[in-house]
Amino acid sequence: MDNFHQEDSDICLHSNENLNEYWGSIAPPIVQTSLFAFENWDSFLKGITSERTNYVYTRGVNPTTEILEKKLAELEKGEKCKCFTSGMAAISSTIFSLVEANEHILFVNNVYGPTVSYVKTLGKFNVDYTQIFINDESEIEEYITDKTKMIYIESPSTMNFDVLDFSKISKIAKERNIITVIDNTWATPLVQKPIEHGIDLVVHSLTKYIAGHSDAVGGAVIGSYDMVDKIFEIGHQFGGGVISPFNSWLILRGLRTLPQRLYYQMNTVKMVIEYLKDNKKVLKINHPLAFEGKAKEIYEKQTNGYTSLFSVEVDFKNYEELTNFMNAFKVFKLGVSWGGYESLAISPNYNNEANHRGLEEARQSKNLVRIYLGLEDSTTLLDDLKRAFKVLEG
Ligand SMILES: *Cc1c(COP(=O)(O)O)cnc(C)c1O
Repeated sequence: MDNFHQEDSDICLHSNENLNEYWGSIAPPIVQTSLFAFENWDSFLKGITSERTNYVYTRGVNPTTEILEKKLAELEKGEKCKCFTSGMAAISSTIFSLVEANEHILFVNNVYGPTVSYVKTLGKFNVDYTQIFINDESEIEEYITDKTKMIYIESPSTMNFDVLDFSKISKIAKERNIITVIDNTWATPLVQKPIEHGIDLVVHSLTKYIAGHSDAVGGAVIGSYDMVDKIFEIGHQFGGGVISPFNSWLILRGLRTLPQRLYYQMNTVKMVIEYLKDNKKVLKINHPLAFEGKAKEIYEKQTNGYTSLFSVEVDFKNYEELTNFMNAFKVFKLGVSWGGYESLAISPNYNNEANHRGLEEARQSKNLVRIYLGLEDSTTLLDDLKRAFKVLEG
């Protein structure tokens, strides 16, 4: 289960890098340009017939960004990928480009909060949505209406770590001509490839594991040529969320070491989960290594490995204990996001009424702590976690 495909490593390192096109340079050039000039009027006229395939303007295709796009499409087993300036740009462009006025979007279980908030704003175009929490995929059918255009999922979700069966969901959707979209940021294409299980489109925040160094923001959508081309036209060319060639280059550099980073982090997470399983203050661990029953079965069927972001429910007596716990960390930083080199901890509990209502809606415990294990030495991280749990003793 822990072995990445050999071909994925080759894609991260070498594929789509045509060194002879740029003087044998091992690192691809950052083609930091807004436009591309043509030799004569005829070639100009030919070029502009297709701004989504020819180098015309960087709001279309850019050679540096294109290398990243081709690698991501290969990794996810999709026909085409388009990169965006952020994960949210990729997500909002995907939804805006494919969903029409008066149509309906179904969110299954928790997804990234701003995605739902974005869809709320589409209410002005009479785009409706429902967010459902289910125990079995067949329950989805009850909530599908004749207006449902898209089923949007995240599995595992990145606070509760709920798991959904891709092939069951895609079967239900395909029978009704509904588009399925998954946010695959947590797993990365190395750990799971939802398109192989029938999901239509995969979206990513490249900001997390793929860039991997907490220094660049980016996003991507991958899927069939036709769907991604439509998102490219409406969401990218008209929406305009263009990633800078420099950020594409940084993300390409991060992608090269993704298999090695994840491999290292898998070992760290294994060790940490073992410690947490024996810790009496831990009420629940939300990570594939602690899955049981149906979640474990589904997960193992469609996924190959795991990553190092998870959450735990801690037996805090009160909010003060939560505060003391968070303040005890010396190595873990307190901050949003994840996937970089530095370990992070947060709690979704901000201890105010609106926040607690939100937690209830999202079915999240007030005692949840989300932990991201970065690239620090595993013993250093374990010692820091022990330091935090020590404040709960006595
Ligand atoms: C961070 C994140 C996003 C949004 O990506 P940005 O690059 O921050 O816009 C979407 N989904 C998940 C699961 C994320 O963690």
